Amino acid sequence: MALIVQKFGGTSVGSVEKIKNVANRVIEEAENGNEVVVVVSAMGKTTDQLVSMARDISGSPSKREMDMLLTTGEQVTISLLTMALIEEGHEAISYTGWQAGMQTESVHGNARILNIDATRIQAQLQEKKIVVVAGFQGNDANGEITTLGRGGSDTTAVAIAAALNADRCDIYTDVTGVFTTDPRYIKGARKLQSISYDEMLELANLGAGVLHPRAVEYAKIIKFRLKSVQA
Ligand code: ASP
Ligand code: MG
Repeated sequence: MALIVQKFGGTSVGSVEKIKNVANRVIEEAENGNEVVVVVSAMGKTTDQLVSMARDISGSPSKREMDMLLTTGEQVTISLLTMALIEEGHEAISYTGWQAGMQTESVHGNARILNIDATRIQAQLQEKKIVVVAGFQGNDANGEITTLGRGGSDTTAVAIAAALNADRCDIYTDVTGVFTTDPRYIKGARKLQSISYDEMLELANLGAGVLHPRAVEYAKIIKFRLKSVQA
């Protein structure tokens, strides 16, 4: 039996149909006898749409209220995915970032994770439940909701995997690999056969969208794979 953290991004959970597909991938791992924690992003372009609504109201919206707004996106996905798992006959429970013990610094919009109190996740795994956690969010010492920066669900997944000492962290993505430059804009971009952590960190810091830079920092301490699926 292994402990596996799976992460599914916005495209993979972009519709109810896709969420059902994700549930099947989660169930596959659970039925192989593994303990599974799933981290998900907001559905499709939800976060962009929320940002755009806020901008329609204010040129410089309150950062606290932005975090309050944006964290709703992931909360939709965790509940729907958990319902889909339960519907398939599996015991599952969803947690927001703060319920999952994601303690961050007191910064809105781009907070670093300071600590993960994984007690609740661990207790649910013991009860044989699949635990579904909202990516990208946490809370500070004052109980204020924070976010980890755009693309931050990768970091949630890898950090939880490290905190739980997971055997694997699988980041499912709809791209086929890491390229020398963004293949959507540059013809001739080459797919890399392999990449070191430090090179990946550099690419992520330079703005490669494929992985959140802080996720790469955590990935140094655990075994993790970038899985390509057209989910
Ligand atoms: N939903 C957030 C974003 O769009 C976080 C994530 O997807 O990783 O940036
Ligand atoms: Mg991403």
